[in-house]
Amino acid sequence: MFDDWGKGDPRRMPTWHFHGGVHLDYASAVRADITKQEDAICPRYWYINATMACIKCGKEFCFTTTEQKLWYEDLQFSLSSFPKHCLGCRKALRNLKKLRKEYDRDIADGLRGQSIEAKERLAAVIDGLCEAGEHLPERIHGNRRLLARQIARIRSQVPG
Ligand SMILES: [Zn+2]
Repeated sequence: MFDDWGKGDPRRMPTWHFHGGVHLDYASAVRADITKQEDAICPRYWYINATMACIKCGKEFCFTTTEQKLWYEDLQFSLSSFPKHCLGCRKALRNLKKLRKEYDRDIADGLRGQSIEAKERLAAVIDGLCEAGEHLPERIHGNRRLLARQIARIRSQVPG
């Protein structure tokens, strides 16, 4: 029986809303305020605690009704979007992004300048990217070696 995208019964919601979901806890279903969602042919009438598997590490995590309300009503995220990573991986990815941004912003001045603190900070940023298992272009590894040489040279010039 067709039930208008699960309007009257969360069990009739299209499963693509939770694509990759391992388990849907229908007992947790909370009615959504679809007037706050993005305009879509197929709204999410219910939020349901959904157990998903992280596409990076495979760990299971729960996409909760509270998070769904936040995503689709407060933040107006696309109704077809849902988290693909566990909290740990999301945090690591955010950190990686932050490091990459810092690197891109500071590398030119850092290499040119004489500040040993700036050079050490940049070296640490590159090390952080390496530790995170990020595949870095050779140019960045080359800059890491250059920074090490510059740091050693500046240190050797400091008297005492
Ligand atoms: Zn993960």
